[in-house]
Amino acid sequence: MRQSSLLYLDGVSVSFDGFRALNSLSLVIEPGEMRAIIGPNGAGKTTMMDVITGKTRPDSGEVFFAGDTDLTRLDEAAIAELGIGRKFQKPTVFESHTVWDNLELALKAPRGPFSTLFHALRPAERARIEELLELIRLGSRRDDLAANLSHGQKQWLEIGMLLAQEPQLLLVDEPAAGMTDAETAETADLLRDINKTRSVVVVEHDMTFIRALGVKVTVLHEGSVLAEGSIDHVSSDERVVEVYLGR
Ligand code: ADP
Repeated sequence: MRQSSLLYLDGVSVSFDGFRALNSLSLVIEPGEMRAIIGPNGAGKTTMMDVITGKTRPDSGEVFFAGDTDLTRLDEAAIAELGIGRKFQKPTVFESHTVWDNLELALKAPRGPFSTLFHALRPAERARIEELLELIRLGSRRDDLAANLSHGQKQWLEIGMLLAQEPQLLLVDEPAAGMTDAETAETADLLRDINKTRSVVVVEHDMTFIRALGVKVTVLHEGSVLAEGSIDHVSSDERVVEVYLGR
């Protein structure tokens, strides 16, 4: 199972001062999959993302990427380079730059900070930025300063900047938080579009959004998996209703 999976967590535990944030968590994401992770506050969702991205080292358990790569031996930079991109909840775009320039900077970033000063865009890079602009629904806003975008549009721009690095797996933390209903629906469509070419793990509280995604859901509770399956399946599970949906 590990060999054929994109992401493989087995028996992962993390304690902070004796408190078990993750308690023998096991999770498998298949190549090409999009998975939604839900769970009440304190369930361990952020800690799980921190373990995958190398920000937190597990006390025990296995974390493998693309079959054979042991993520517990790598630091954050090496894991990002491997092809795992993480979108935090708060958008961090360059507000005083245009939408286009934000994408251009992100595209050139792997070549080092000075490359942006001297290197003109190649035709293939220009085409990729055009593609990303369409994908993130900001084609008509390319020349606007990022500061003038709505909160939702800034989230999309940051997702575009992450995609410029061509991750195999995109981790997204509560993308719908603070969005309008229309932006939330558009974000579900955007993630489905992204999932046509890469894998996505999305942590989200918004049930309307999770339903719109229409993907397999994993419910975390007290640091381990409480239930897994379609949203209808998990939301009819009594234990899930008790710890999460019924609160
Ligand atoms: P979620 O993202 O599902 O809300 P977290 O992973 O943030 O859950 O937290 C799981 C538990 O671990 C919480 O009870 C939280 O207080 C605790 N925790 C998380 N990070 C730390 C830390 N750096 N130090 C101490 N406790 C932490």
